[in-house]
Amino acid sequence: MSAEIIDGKAIAARVRAGVARSVADLVAHGGRAPGLATVLVGEDPASAVYVAGKQRACAEVGMTPYDERLPADATHEQVAGRLQALNDDPGVSGILLQLPLPDHLEGPSLTGLIDPAKDVDGLTPINAGLLSLGRPGLRPCTPVGVLELLASVEARLEGAEAVVVGRSNLFGKPMAQLLLEANATVTVCHSRTRDLREVCARADILIAAVGRPRMIERDFVKPGAIVIDVGMNRLSPEEAGTKSGLVGDVDFAAVSEVASAITPVPGGVGPMTIAMLLSNTLQAAHIQRELPTGEGR
Ligand code: NAP
Repeated sequence: MSAEIIDGKAIAARVRAGVARSVADLVAHGGRAPGLATVLVGEDPASAVYVAGKQRACAEVGMTPYDERLPADATHEQVAGRLQALNDDPGVSGILLQLPLPDHLEGPSLTGLIDPAKDVDGLTPINAGLLSLGRPGLRPCTPVGVLELLASVEARLEGAEAVVVGRSNLFGKPMAQLLLEANATVTVCHSRTRDLREVCARADILIAAVGRPRMIERDFVKPGAIVIDVGMNRLSPEEAGTKSGLVGDVDFAAVSEVASAITPVPGGVGPMTIAMLLSNTLQAAHIQRELPTGEGR
């Protein structure tokens, strides 16, 4: 079997075009264009590239980008103060604190200061709690993007065996909850899982988010399974055997011989994350328009 390649770039482009149309419509009816604030602390080059991509994507769909930068030695109070100012700014619909933060700062406690109605990464305790209760809220971008990719190949989630490798708050846990919401039977694996290979080989839908280059080999995969590769691992071009040096957690060449559909890296999950961030920012703008001032903030 040769797997269908799920083209995340094309699917993300469709999502972005839809967001652009909705923004244009909002503005045409007298509304304010949604604003997305990215907050970057320090000068980590990879983070700076991610933030620049988000800023660009935001402007391309007609939203207003706010590019907030703090020095690497910024204190907790300084970052907290900046987040509070953005919470209070009516032009800002969504706030994204770029992770990882410098070592002296604590990511979860700072993320937790973001107004849940502007939490476009879906990482605040309120939004994580709403997701776990199955109630509406802002959902983390990457897992929601994965659901879109699964929908693009008409994956039947109801009753399916879904295995998620990785249990991070950022991806693995919310992914598992979204799959449960879609009535899949979900197993979450991690570094202490026994017989990982056997557990993965049961999956109709296998999702890898580990951060280990090509660890999911051909015999981890049931013939005909759908495989989603969230991993982004940077190797030297020689090690990777590709120009970019970027590889996923799945051995793409070998696994595409047994899977029915698979996402490539790059060009699979990655583009969906930014597309869903824009979609979440639009959703956040609508949530804020519906809330009386101060409520739920
Ligand atoms: P993370 O917080 O480092 O979590 C990694 C998870 O993998 C942990 O739950 C860990 O288990 C598990 N793990 C580590 N070694 C394992 C092993 N040998 N067998 C089974 N499980 C193992 O990472 P993350 O933030 O979820 O990200 C994971 C990967 O996805 C990274 O490559 C990241 O760059 C990528 N990512 C990509 C996007 C995107 O937009 N494309 C978005 C988010 C993440 P323990 O909990 O037991 O330690």
